[in-house]
Amino acid sequence: MARIIDGKALASKLRERVATGVAEFHALTGRAPGLDVVLVGDDPASAVYTRNKEKAAAEVGIRGALHRLPTTTTEAELLEFVQRLNADPAIDGILVQLPLPNGIDPNRVTDAIDPSKDVDGFHPVNAGMLCVGREGLVPCTPRGCMALLDAHLAAIGAGPDLGGKHAVVIGRSNIVGKPMAQLLLARNATVTVAHSRTRDLPALCRTADVLVAAVGRPKMVGADWIKPGAIVLDVGINRTAEGKLCGDVDTEAAMTVAGAVTPVPGGVGPMTIAMLLENTLTAASRRVG
Ligand code: NAD
Repeated sequence: MARIIDGKALASKLRERVATGVAEFHALTGRAPGLDVVLVGDDPASAVYTRNKEKAAAEVGIRGALHRLPTTTTEAELLEFVQRLNADPAIDGILVQLPLPNGIDPNRVTDAIDPSKDVDGFHPVNAGMLCVGREGLVPCTPRGCMALLDAHLAAIGAGPDLGGKHAVVIGRSNIVGKPMAQLLLARNATVTVAHSRTRDLPALCRTADVLVAAVGRPKMVGADWIKPGAIVLDVGINRTAEGKLCGDVDTEAAMTVAGAVTPVPGGVGPMTIAMLLENTLTAASRRVG
């Protein structure tokens, strides 16, 4: 039976660590790190996500602000708003919640954020830094996956090096799949990125020592996709026909074959917010030198 990698517990430890770091930052600089979240429009899911981010920031002592802009906000107005946040020295992290209403190009908005405040790690400068192995801000979800992987490797007495291991990442999005592949590569894994045009995905996945599923298809990865003993990281957040939350992996089935599995909920999800808090502290610390 596979080991369950508990993201909730790990995220809680990480938040405690961030809270300590925030207190130290405060003692040193006389102010708290600041995270400003921008929400345009009234998408209910985005409203919940941004509220959760604000709440989590407050819990670790980060000064948070949620800016709610109306659906009628134009691209020019949003870009100007972002520039104001860029120029404010009390703001260390800026996050513009996606998706944006029609008529606003998300790339233009991402590009407008000061890369040193880009706590989502979506700016092309940060994506480039990750590719060339230099210091930048790394997207929260893949960082969370790496932390879960590390926690598991440590628990079984293995080192963090993935040399000689095959990692398969299903999904090639800019926010999860691609940065995930880069992080695994940086650990010396041999990485394959699979996607909707990949042939015979189950056979490919069966060769993976580390399998990351970031697709958005409920329970797509079954037991017969998994190499015995593999570590399976499930990024997907989906709803079943009955309205229950589930990942891209059929967790129960995977448990019979894999060495370790992250659950949904309680796996990658809580780590993403914890990493956002850590990225904010990192951005703040770098900005004060
Ligand atoms: P996306 O839609 O941008 O990308 C999905 C990727 O899956 C694409 O690259 C596509 O090629 C691939 N794909 C689609 N159908 C496929 C198929 N049949 N076979 C193989 N590959 C296929 O999604 P995303 O933003 O990368 O998110 C992926 C999933 O992760 C979603 O369920 C999303 O909700 C979830 N997510 C979770 C967190 C978290 O904090 N846990 C964060 C971000 C995303």
